[in-house]
Amino acid sequence: MCLSDNAKDKRLRVSVLLEWDDYTYVIDCGPDFRYQMLRTKCTKIDGILFTHEHADHTAGLDDIRPFFFKQGDIPIYAHERVMNGLEIRFDYIFRANNKYPGAPSVKTHVIENKSFALGNIMVVPINGYHDKLQVFGFRFNDIAYLTDMKTVSDEEVAKLKGVKILVVNALRTEPHPSHFNLEEALAFIKRVAPEKAYLTHISHMLGFHEDVQQSLPENVFLAYDNLQLTL
Ligand SMILES: [Zn+2]
Ligand SMILES: [Zn+2]
Repeated sequence: MCLSDNAKDKRLRVSVLLEWDDYTYVIDCGPDFRYQMLRTKCTKIDGILFTHEHADHTAGLDDIRPFFFKQGDIPIYAHERVMNGLEIRFDYIFRANNKYPGAPSVKTHVIENKSFALGNIMVVPINGYHDKLQVFGFRFNDIAYLTDMKTVSDEEVAKLKGVKILVVNALRTEPHPSHFNLEEALAFIKRVAPEKAYLTHISHMLGFHEDVQQSLPENVFLAYDNLQLTL
């Protein structure tokens, strides 16, 4: 938060970079995407997965340019509705004809609520709702990343069984119509029962990192910018 000197209170928009073998994928590219890529010294991406279309998760798409110049079309994975929304907002990226020479291009992969191949693994989408808006979380073997969730059915929670690390959104202490608050996030973690859970999509309203961390169960941690987890 603005009043804190603790780096863990300086929060950019949510995103996660996943690396395994020679693969590098990113989930969501919000307005801070460019700076986040520079900060992590990331020089290659094999694709971007989108949870949903909100600007805090998509507004950085134009900044795939340097990756596109080196690698060609950047694969993107999203629900059909999200892909259509991106195509309207970034028409110059999706346009096949009369393309501006400096514009980046993407290779679209529309995903449904069923497992799909990514590199050499299968990714399992987890379907949830952000108020009434459908949102995808994703499970990559032993780690799952879910953000902007408010309701998740038991059927979808079952897909998370046995996950070692769960990352899930916790916006603030007060209830919110479309995001888990802290209490709801902790209840969700109990339903999933991972070995460890990390909270993300944290707003200014949740409080200072050190204070909130002390109040959490022993297997639950507040995520912070630049946090690295190894499995
Ligand atoms: Zn959202
Ligand atoms: Zn969001």
